[in-house]
Amino acid sequence: MAEVLVVVEASQGAPKKVTLEMLTLARTLGDVSAVVLGGSAAALADKLGEFGATKIYAAEGEDLDGYLVAGKATVLAALIQRVSPAAVLIASSQEGKEIAGRVAVKLDNGLLTDVVALDADGIGTQVVFAGSTIVKSKVSKGLPIVTVRPNSLTPTPAPATPSVEQVEVALTDKDKLAKVVERKVEAKGARPELAEASIVVSGGRGVGSADNFKLVEELADLLGGAVGASRAAVDSGFYPHQFQVGQTGKTVSPQLYVALGISGAIQHRAGMQTSKTIIAVNKDSEAPIFELADFGVVGDLFKVVPQAAEEIRKRK
Ligand code: FAD
Repeated sequence: MAEVLVVVEASQGAPKKVTLEMLTLARTLGDVSAVVLGGSAAALADKLGEFGATKIYAAEGEDLDGYLVAGKATVLAALIQRVSPAAVLIASSQEGKEIAGRVAVKLDNGLLTDVVALDADGIGTQVVFAGSTIVKSKVSKGLPIVTVRPNSLTPTPAPATPSVEQVEVALTDKDKLAKVVERKVEAKGARPELAEASIVVSGGRGVGSADNFKLVEELADLLGGAVGASRAAVDSGFYPHQFQVGQTGKTVSPQLYVALGISGAIQHRAGMQTSKTIIAVNKDSEAPIFELADFGVVGDLFKVVPQAAEEIRKRK
């Protein structure tokens, strides 16, 4: 079977959920090889194997960790030229997209970004215009290099024992033009990361103030979920931008999405419409969010949420 490369995205010594999703997708296309660019491949090997990687290309060393992404793109481009894979999957993250763009230019190869599916003929599916249009595209020059949108599919394990091959890291002076001078890991709160959480509780303009967002946080904490926000809530200064859900924010696909005081604009839906179960609380029975919700409560969130929280506490 053809070899498919999956570029690993990891955080704090573990592959991110999007990596497991890409491994799952790659298994439908061929033999899965994970590519670790920087960090320690050994720490990730078990988990990559659990999701079907039969081989790991380990490009490690200070040079990859000490500079920005240019070096990673150089190493990946050289690997692609050497192994001629059937496809290359890279996460649609800020870093992933930058690596993918640089690699495509280096190899004079086409690139598809933000795909949610890729078939064996190299045809990728992209969801555009806030989810209203589905586009099928194919790279017309070179092999399919694609960035995969997080939360596009459910990762499933398929245990394998991967072999590890060290990859030579030889960076050029051009790759070293921007150096990392400091890394600060933000203090991780008790809440799960928004894009990876299985429960998300989001607040919109209807929450009314930054102070009132404590109500959203309280419900999220009772459910063990992450907190999200609509753009109107973010623009009003109620909650930081990094928690925005939607077209210009994060895409989430949890088991449960709770929308509090959110009208359900198309740009918000774009970031949460694939959630498994959606609960909406809105005082306007005509709010568009109810077209999407599996369960809707027409009511004042300042009455409904404390009552719901009380019930959850009783059952804990
Ligand atoms: P509103 O539309 O004002 O809705 C507030 C809701 O709260 C209303 O339905 C109201 O009935 C309800 N409410 C008020 N008080 C209460 C109460 N006490 N109890 C219960 N319900 C109450 N939006 C995003 O969210 N994410 C994006 O990424 C995003 N990207 C965008 C990109 C572009 C290019 C553009 C043009 C827009 C984008 N938007 C995005 C904005 C989007 O169009 C909407 O303006 C926004 O989603 C509205 O947020 P909201 O639902 O919180 O506010």
